[in-house]
Amino acid sequence: LRKPKIVILGAGYGGLTTTVRLQKTLGVNEADITLINKNDYHYETTWLHEASAGTLHHDRVRYEVEGVIDRSKVKFVKGTVTSINREEKRVILEDGEYEYDYLVIALGGESETFGIKGIKEYAFTISNVNSSRQIREHIEYQFATYSSEEEKSDERLTIVVGGAGFTGIEFLGELGNRIPELCREYDIDQNKVRVICVEAAPSALPGFDPELVEYAVNHLERKGIEFKIGTAIKECKPDGIVVGKDDQVEEIKANTVVWAAGVRGSSIIEAAGFEAMRGRVKVDPYLRVPGHEDVFVVGDCSLVINEEINRPYPPTAQIAMQQGALCAKNIAVLVRGQGEMSEFVFDNKGSVCSLGEDDAIGVVFGRKIWGARAAFMKKVIDNRALFVIGGPSLVLKKGKFNFL
Ligand code: FAD
Ligand code: NAD
Repeated sequence: LRKPKIVILGAGYGGLTTTVRLQKTLGVNEADITLINKNDYHYETTWLHEASAGTLHHDRVRYEVEGVIDRSKVKFVKGTVTSINREEKRVILEDGEYEYDYLVIALGGESETFGIKGIKEYAFTISNVNSSRQIREHIEYQFATYSSEEEKSDERLTIVVGGAGFTGIEFLGELGNRIPELCREYDIDQNKVRVICVEAAPSALPGFDPELVEYAVNHLERKGIEFKIGTAIKECKPDGIVVGKDDQVEEIKANTVVWAAGVRGSSIIEAAGFEAMRGRVKVDPYLRVPGHEDVFVVGDCSLVINEEINRPYPPTAQIAMQQGALCAKNIAVLVRGQGEMSEFVFDNKGSVCSLGEDDAIGVVFGRKIWGARAAFMKKVIDNRALFVIGGPSLVLKKGKFNFL
């Protein structure tokens, strides 16, 4: 009997959770499982702001994919997916092709530029290990150059962060701790440094608890960070940005612009011809592409509506991992031809936003937390993600224990 071929694209939170759950559920003789990922390592996307600021080494945020999969059950392929042929049920890589009976798309998100001029060319994004290393190295280079150049240009020490969503705020939290260190390392007066956050909405962290938002903004302002709220980035140039507030337009000179103003699903989704909103497929209750019952989508490439407010759930690691677990369960049902698939119901445990490693804000199980308690909770959440995928040994290897 021919074994069904299950192909999983992406070894992020969604793809790896699907894989480890499938390898636990299915026997060697029940299916051929292939996991395809661009790199031979997984990275914790949720820790990338730390690697970007330089507060955590980039090797701390990644681990080898083969260390968490059962190689007797799962074939790992290091490769970059370029397209999906839905009719022929094939995935095309830069080098090679794979056929599938069941496909799981978990390729994650990409930075959303909204077509704003110059963002792609001149702004950095916190997207993966190497883009984070680039930000860290770039900032450090600006400090090093400033301290040694004769004619000092202050825009070398100006950093603009576009967007005060969770990513922008978490990155600013790390910068708040890193800048004083950099100033000490390169003998620079901290008053020369400017970190400016530009947010288009009328508040930072739009939609989050206003008291906690105020706490976060106060904390960051005390660290010297400036906020331009209700102000939109209109253009990015090689030497700075153009912002607009009401009818006023202003240019801010800055050698570093980090764009953290939103994400969309992988461009592969639209290229494959799946119906999508900003690269995200509105999946059916079983997490499949409507009209393509052999294709599941989890994580940032998927869109699930929160019926209570009739708006999509924000794309998070939390939802990606819950989807991965259900997706594995449903595929096992289909492979065995036994039982019934289950519908996806998001169990929202809340969210915690770090403000550097020593402070945070959050709402967890409906309760507000802040300060050291929230910072501790954030580390528990980070360690839990490692535990779900790699068990206690991965937590011991990669976990965060700097609260001990
Ligand atoms: P990812 O985890 O991003 O994984 C996608 C994988 O696909 C990657 O391994 C990538 O290399 C691979 N891939 C991509 N394209 C290709 C290709 N063409 N071929 C082969 N492989 C490919 N969410 C939370 O719930 N809590 C948080 O605290 C939190 N913090 C965050 C902090 C930051 C700085 C950022 C940027 C995001 C944060 N998020 C957080 C959001 C969360 O990281 C994402 O929602 C989550 O990573 C989505 O999981 P995923 O599996 O869809 O994609
Ligand atoms: P986001 O979409 O949540 O926030 C982007 C922010 O940029 C918004 O506040 C928006 O108003 C602003 N913006 C958009 N265009 C702008 C412009 N032209 N000029 C200035 N500001 C502009 O994106 P994100 O922060 O990258 O988060 C992406 C996803 O990851 C979200 O679902 C988020 O919940 C999740 N995430 C969660 C955590 C956490 O739980 N700790 C951390 C990071 C990210």
